[in-house]
Amino acid sequence: MDNESNKTHQNTRPVSNRVFKAVYDSPASLPGNHKWVTKEEDVRQIEKLLGMPEHTIGAPLWVSGDDHYCPKCQREINWLDIVSSALNSVHGKEMIAKVILGQRKFVNVEAPKAIANLRCWNCQALIENLRSFKCHNWAYAKPALLEMLELMEKKGTL
Ligand SMILES: [Zn+2]
Repeated sequence: MDNESNKTHQNTRPVSNRVFKAVYDSPASLPGNHKWVTKEEDVRQIEKLLGMPEHTIGAPLWVSGDDHYCPKCQREINWLDIVSSALNSVHGKEMIAKVILGQRKFVNVEAPKAIANLRCWNCQALIENLRSFKCHNWAYAKPALLEMLELMEKKGTL
């Protein structure tokens, strides 16, 4: 599990605001058959879990995957499941704090076949159908797309 976390760190790159916006706006930033936003009551629960005042999180918390629901209890899977699963490890806590509270923009270039070690907030079932997530300062891009955007920025064409 430690290896997994280290890998995640390596695959997470800080980027400029301009590159981030281009990645965020790209449809490819949310791979999978469906994309949806974490519902309001679950966002409030995330704030509670992280010890934040209510309504600290304002930006939409997107997820994507091939299926919306937990295969066992039919709960709609979203950022709450990601956050509660990540809080089980020290690396996860750091990562979540950096993602949700930080100002710095990050792009994750790890191929998201499925998010690892994800469990349902409600019933703890293992979830294997969530592929990606993004928020105001965290998004996913294929390495080739990110390289192209950074090159365009360097040339001043982005
Ligand atoms: Zn469940």
